Amino acid sequence: TIILGLESSCDETAAALVTAEGKILAHRLAMQEEAHRPYGGVVPEIAARAHVEALSPLIEAALEDANLTLDQVDVIAATAGPGLIGGVMVGLVTGKALAHAANKPLVAVNHLEGHALSPRLADPSLQFPYLLLLVSGGHCQLLHVRGPGNYARLATTIDDASGEAFDKTAKLLGVGYPGGPAVEQAAAKGNAKAVPLPRPLVGTAEPHFSFAGLKSAVMRAAQSGKYSTEDIAASFQQAVIDCLIDRTERQLAAHQGMTALVVAGGVAANQSIRAALQALAARHDLPFVAPPLWLCTDNAAMIAWAGAERYAAGLIDDLTVPARPRWPLDPDAEKARGAGV
Ligand code: ATP
Ligand code: MG
Ligand code: FE
Repeated sequence: TIILGLESSCDETAAALVTAEGKILAHRLAMQEEAHRPYGGVVPEIAARAHVEALSPLIEAALEDANLTLDQVDVIAATAGPGLIGGVMVGLVTGKALAHAANKPLVAVNHLEGHALSPRLADPSLQFPYLLLLVSGGHCQLLHVRGPGNYARLATTIDDASGEAFDKTAKLLGVGYPGGPAVEQAAAKGNAKAVPLPRPLVGTAEPHFSFAGLKSAVMRAAQSGKYSTEDIAASFQQAVIDCLIDRTERQLAAHQGMTALVVAGGVAANQSIRAALQALAARHDLPFVAPPLWLCTDNAAMIAWAGAERYAAGLIDDLTVPARPRWPLDPDAEKARGAGV
């Protein structure tokens, strides 16, 4: 079984082909960094137009790389949300058109499920259930991953996502765009103990994350003129790590029977964060699984793979499936959040 995956929910346009056994036959990606750089963030209208231009050539290139025709593809998987609605529509409508024209089943993939299952594409020995720290541009969550379509959200951020915190800190420090890798590079040259910064919610009984207070403290530190950019970046990164580790450890203690500690999402590309999680897993005698860096940030291989897992579970969609700018992996937790946290 061969799955074509399409991704266009943010500022990467991507197409990939994977097999049901997890073999990556081709993956193509076009980044829009240059188009958004002058604005210091993703501009939805620019992103949507760029997806329209980039997607079809990427699909053709991926098919060519794999030496396949569309007829030889068995399943079409496309991101249907969450994300910027204009971009999501481009990929989903393209997926629907291909599925219709070639008479293939369509799987509408939740982008977060793409991130959540990507570690199983990287490491086929990874079994359900696992504890997943999902840290990306728009999300910071701990999930109990039980299977495709089967997630319990144990914790989420009450304000900013972790990637958002990196991006805002990068903008504040003027270290460049995109923010995460720029802050990581600056941090490598700084002293993580130089700047006293808060660790919001660490040690509290509630399970959630918070980064807004940290961001304000970084702003004050930068404005004080007392610290170097590198020291602020290093101290910020350490504060994020301490928050992530404390919250994750809390769930490891509360839940027995997890097969592994797993990290996914763009922020999982950060080497210091990976190292800290690896040490945490070792302290709890659990395997640690993190996808290779290119599979952490947005890509279409993870969407094709989530499509493969859903297809194998009989979860296919019809061509009326809508694009969803908001789409929680665990709708129950989302409802509870509306009522309180
Ligand atoms: P979501 O998946 O929540 O919809 P997204 O698709 O925009 O959001 P990803 O592509 O998964 O997010 O991740 C991008 C985020 O990862 C950005 O916020 C970026 O700053 C962050 N990031 C990327 N590399 C690193 C790094 N080395 N260190 C820290 N953060 C990083
Ligand atoms: Mg991106
Ligand atoms: Fe993402």
